[in-house]
Amino acid sequence: MMDNADVERFVIDNLIRVKSRIRNACERVGRKPADVKLLLATKTVDASVISLALKNGDLLIGENKAQELKHKAEELKEHAANIHFIGHLQTNKIKTIAAWVSCIHSVDRLELAQKLHSHLQSLGKSMDIFLQVNTSGEVSKFGVSPEKALQLATLVSRYDTLKVKGLMTIGLFSAEAEKVRECFKLLKSIKLKIAELGLPNTEMNELSMGMSNDLEIAIEEGSTIVRVGTAVFGSRRLPDSYYWNEAP
Ligand SMILES: *Cc1c(COP(=O)(O)O)cnc(C)c1O
Repeated sequence: MMDNADVERFVIDNLIRVKSRIRNACERVGRKPADVKLLLATKTVDASVISLALKNGDLLIGENKAQELKHKAEELKEHAANIHFIGHLQTNKIKTIAAWVSCIHSVDRLELAQKLHSHLQSLGKSMDIFLQVNTSGEVSKFGVSPEKALQLATLVSRYDTLKVKGLMTIGLFSAEAEKVRECFKLLKSIKLKIAELGLPNTEMNELSMGMSNDLEIAIEEGSTIVRVGTAVFGSRRLPDSYYWNEAP
């Protein structure tokens, strides 16, 4: 069993390691480390452990489930956490999270964008979003297909409460780096095509891609925000299928 001081050392050491991985990847391709944000993927991690990272100055966190996010956001209220939503979002959960998050990475269908827009209108606020694209073609992953991404971006751009920052993807789970890289290259090419459309409410400056196992490849291909969980907090209590396998 690890006591509190052990857990703190474990998390802080891991953060140092992850940041040096980010720096090294940036150096290899001549990018500035400051241009790549680190978002801590905190699903299954207790608020007490998340607060260790927050105290260390890492304030950007991402949650996957609406109820889990709300509970932890309440527990972490005294920290200046910047909370993003990165999981599959059901339309009936929009109300649960809207007040707590500054950004949603997983907008992948028009119905969700439309319902999110009307709720934000009623609150009189706007929200940063990413459009999630399924670049690996795996059926277990959510996201709009690459073929339909331009159409979705065009339709979503009508909703002026939604500030589209860029695109998000989960790369192929594979030990073959070149296959993973193809996913990130594809996301970047779609981003460039959407940017050319000059859509309203759409900046297309950001790519949310790269996780514990593939952040280097994602950074080499232009990621501006990596979402890292296990490399910081260790292996999770619940399998990822609990978060990902509600087949689209
Ligand atoms: C869990 C999760 C991550 C982080 O995954 P790790 O492999 O633990 O780094 C990133 N993005 C999303 C959408 C996730 O659900």
